[in-house]
Amino acid sequence: MDTHSGSCLCSKVRFEIDAIFHGFFLCHCSRCRKTTGSAHGANLFSKAANFRWLEGEANVKTFRVPGSRFLTTFCDTCGSTLPTFDKGHLLVPAGSLDSAVDCQPDGHIFVASRAEWDHDLELVPRFNSVPDIT
Ligand SMILES: [Zn+2]
Ligand SMILES: [Zn+2]
Repeated sequence: MDTHSGSCLCSKVRFEIDAIFHGFFLCHCSRCRKTTGSAHGANLFSKAANFRWLEGEANVKTFRVPGSRFLTTFCDTCGSTLPTFDKGHLLVPAGSLDSAVDCQPDGHIFVASRAEWDHDLELVPRFNSVPDIT
């Protein structure tokens, strides 16, 4: 088991996990795109994890899309997505971790639902800061 640590953007919420991640998926479904505001979610999954909130548990809120299994957990101050527990599984947004994730994603999922601009992204120019777009 590896120990990972994470936090939200405003740092009110901090957590620690002892876990072996058995899956790492980039989910392009419309709900993950709404939740992240981006092309896809990037979620690590663990069936057997020892999870603890270190600070800010009172700031942690969840939202389930009515009539669905989709559940998201977030900080009620800054809105950052946080680890979610659902049916015995722990789902950890990779971006919520401060410790290094030393594995590559296992795959892209729900690719038929991807955004219309989400293709050939490895061909798009790369910059280390915001380029001048004026
Ligand atoms: Zn926060
Ligand atoms: Zn999804």
